Amino acid sequence: MAPPIALPGTSVEILNPSIVRGQIRHAIFDFDGTISLVREGWQDVMVPMMLEYLSAADPDEDSASVSHTVRDFVTRLTGKQTIYQMIELAEQIKKRGATPLDPLDYKHEYLRRLEVRIANRVSGLESKSIDAESLLVPGSMELLEGLSARGVRMYLASGTDEPFVLREAKLLGVDHYFDGGIFGALDNYQNFSKKMVIDRIIKENALSGPELVAFGDGYVEIENAKGVGGIAVGMPTFEADPVRWDDWKKERLKQAGADLLIPNFVDHRPLLAFLFNDAMA
Ligand SMILES: [Mg+2]
Repeated sequence: MAPPIALPGTSVEILNPSIVRGQIRHAIFDFDGTISLVREGWQDVMVPMMLEYLSAADPDEDSASVSHTVRDFVTRLTGKQTIYQMIELAEQIKKRGATPLDPLDYKHEYLRRLEVRIANRVSGLESKSIDAESLLVPGSMELLEGLSARGVRMYLASGTDEPFVLREAKLLGVDHYFDGGIFGALDNYQNFSKKMVIDRIIKENALSGPELVAFGDGYVEIENAKGVGGIAVGMPTFEADPVRWDDWKKERLKQAGADLLIPNFVDHRPLLAFLFNDAMA
């Protein structure tokens, strides 16, 4: 692949200069890591929890090797719904000769622990002692506003459980932009996937490829958008410090087929001007 071209004076990297621009009418967004930073650090909850269960399943196993296994599958399954990581946890417990719980039980335990970790952020947003801006990927609000001003219909499709997505989108003050709907995972996970949501949006609106743009930090939304001929903007946001690139995410999004890469939405103006093929200002 040719080296990326940077949009002059910006951090926008163009991997695929041949995308058809100027036709966007619909935009699909991932939530966590793309717009919201409320759940930043979830890996620090999930990984230790899994290590705990796996060490209990086989106390003699070398801790470095368990740790490697866990990091490996948590990473590989990031971007899908949480339940898939828990299904793999149950498999790994079985492999070690123990009897696992239902993966849904692990998911609920994980969510309980994560809720403890993010409780201060949520209550801070509720009481307004925390500024929503500080838990948004920089420039998100401006980008959403810009798309809205251009009459683009917007959809939020997240792998996080729907009640949490609704709560956090509201607390961050971005929920009203998603006139196309806010969709999250359900315990009955067979009935939801980002792919299903995207397929439905395409079908119900009779969209052709370049009318659709997707923004996300996970490979699922990038692959799905490309799968229907849409434009995919990869967001390798380093969540703990969202002015930086996350190199691991960046590599993964490139492999998934992203057309453009940006670490955050600080350059929302040149990004939109490029996507909408505005006459040169
Ligand atoms: Mg995400």
